[in-house]
Amino acid sequence: MEAPFCEHKEVKVCYDNRRIILHGGSRLKTILEAKGVTKVYRTGRVDVWALRGIDLNVSQGEFVAIMGPSGCGKSTLLHILGGLTPPSKGEVWLDGVNIGALSDAERTRTRRNKIGFVFQRFNLLPTLSALGNLEIARYIHKNGAGGNGSESSRDLLKILGLENKLRSKPIEMSGGEQQRVALARAVINRPAILLADEPTGNLDSENSQTVLHMLQDLNTRFNQTIILITHNPEVAAVAHRLVEMRDGKIHDRVQDVTYHAAEESFL
Ligand code: ADP
Repeated sequence: MEAPFCEHKEVKVCYDNRRIILHGGSRLKTILEAKGVTKVYRTGRVDVWALRGIDLNVSQGEFVAIMGPSGCGKSTLLHILGGLTPPSKGEVWLDGVNIGALSDAERTRTRRNKIGFVFQRFNLLPTLSALGNLEIARYIHKNGAGGNGSESSRDLLKILGLENKLRSKPIEMSGGEQQRVALARAVINRPAILLADEPTGNLDSENSQTVLHMLQDLNTRFNQTIILITHNPEVAAVAHRLVEMRDGKIHDRVQDVTYHAAEESFL
């Protein structure tokens, strides 16, 4: 089946050392699409409406930030987009596949092959080095089919500024370094999309900045599609697009930041 494309006026924007280049007219591939996603948690006699009909399209290479007050449904949405939680109603299409229509085993495989996750907690394996944490992700991705992936794991850790920490265990690293390893692990298998839930939430401002720059770098260097949840406007400011949520709905879609910036570059 042919992959769906965005229907809006397509404008491909990418960064080159912060200079913005506009490629007009090309059609952008939609990598992720949520259609009418609703989630109701049934807790005893009370129903909690976490999501009330979310429609969202994300194009390949886009960096989208989701913001909103605590309890508005951001994490629930991210978990549903990543196939970790089923919606009560609605569909999620990832790279042309309706993930709700997959069997549990197929959904697990799709998650493993197409989605990278980063959470506030780094969730690294404590007994393995930085390199070991990446290698095990590669090994699982290849279904145990061996192969020496060390080169690309090393290269990626170097890109993320961790060349001196390849053999260090999580306990020997700062929070910012651990989060960069978690980031490397999330993208080592080149997922179609990276989903990040408050990735800087546990970091001081200096480490937050570093992790943010790394996310931007991964987006630019590998055209990595990213959806990121944050409370922090500075974090949201690095994204191409900001999606605001309120009470389980998309409240207001602020105009595409890069689109404005690109227009300005023509003035
Ligand atoms: P956010 O990430 O924006 O803080 P959440 O997605 O975590 O919001 O939660 C949205 C709403 O759903 C909240 O009212 C929360 O209490 C409720 N909720 C989240 N997870 C569960 C759950 N497992 N069971 C019951 N209610 C939940």
